[in-house]
Amino acid sequence: MSSQLLVERDELYGCWTWAGKTNSNGYPTWWTKAGPRDAHAELYARVRGPVADDRYLDHVCRRRTCVNPWHLEAVTQRENLRRRDWGYRSKLAKLACGHDAFLEAMRTPEGGKVCRNAVCRTSQEAALRRLEAEGAPRR
Ligand SMILES: [Zn+2]
Ligand SMILES: [Zn+2]
Repeated sequence: MSSQLLVERDELYGCWTWAGKTNSNGYPTWWTKAGPRDAHAELYARVRGPVADDRYLDHVCRRRTCVNPWHLEAVTQRENLRRRDWGYRSKLAKLACGHDAFLEAMRTPEGGKVCRNAVCRTSQEAALRRLEAEGAPRR
């Protein structure tokens, strides 16, 4: 069943590691009847709303095979470029989920940040179960 959502849960960091196909650049690609979709954008749009054309999805956990929408933040190109600077990135006040980076953050081995708030984690897990039940986009 290629239309299934195939992710492996990283229980420690809350990452949804893509276990489906990837494109030639190694980016998660969701193959549907209508063709290939960017898995990050598709999942983000489904649970957090559409990504504007001028926005980029920044991987706040710094793991590009992670498709958890709460580890992605839709930012402007300017902001995306700024975030290449580790000093700038380390001072960001909020996590991708909206929680306070100084109170709730947990650092990934790649130098990113994820949320350790239990309520936040539980709602992410519930969303993942829903997405798994729904399967691939029909568009
Ligand atoms: Zn992640
Ligand atoms: Zn959170």
